[in-house]
Amino acid sequence: METTCAYCGWRKVEIQEGHRKRQYCSDGCKQAAYRQRKSKEKFSQRRQTEQQAIAELRKRWPDFSWTTWFFLQTVCRPLGESFMEQAAKIINDERMQAMLKATQIFQSPLQDEGQL
Ligand SMILES: [Zn+2]
Repeated sequence: METTCAYCGWRKVEIQEGHRKRQYCSDGCKQAAYRQRKSKEKFSQRRQTEQQAIAELRKRWPDFSWTTWFFLQTVCRPLGESFMEQAAKIINDERMQAMLKATQIFQSPLQDEGQL
């Protein structure tokens, strides 16, 4: 009986009756498949850590956008948590300033009326 290699998909693999099923045509394919599986695991682990970090940032700064959380978790790894906190603080201050300004613009006509 024959089947195709689970890695390269084109070379035939002989299956002998009574033996454990062989999935790959060669050791090379077997190793390549193993490496591929490992790097996929690593990738999904990294994704998970990323999502956890974003969830934490979401709790601390619920008003930020996803882009900002993503940016913060990206800088957090190479630059450290204190740098990240500083960046978050600056972003927050900028937001507060902008909101304050917006409120002032909104309120100024009323203040003018009061002065008249
Ligand atoms: Zn193969």
